[in-house]
Amino acid sequence: MYSPKISEQLIPVIYRIAQTEKRPMTQVVNDILSDFLIKYYCQSCNKEILLEEKSNTGYCEDCESEVFLKATTS
Ligand SMILES: [Zn+2]
Repeated sequence: MYSPKISEQLIPVIYRIAQTEKRPMTQVVNDILSDFLIKYYCQSCNKEILLEEKSNTGYCEDCESEVFLKATTS
């Protein structure tokens, strides 16, 4: 599988975040990309749910309750 190279200028930034959060750089990059690419929807009514942090449940305003989410890369 093709793995695109990360820009040199971004490496120090990613490195700093990884150091601060004590996580591997790959994980930091993947999390940032996931936040950007993956959207979460209510499993009951399909409303898009914005998550503050990664979770497989979230509060759906339409269902007025905590609901399970489905992730999708639209
Ligand atoms: Zn819902």
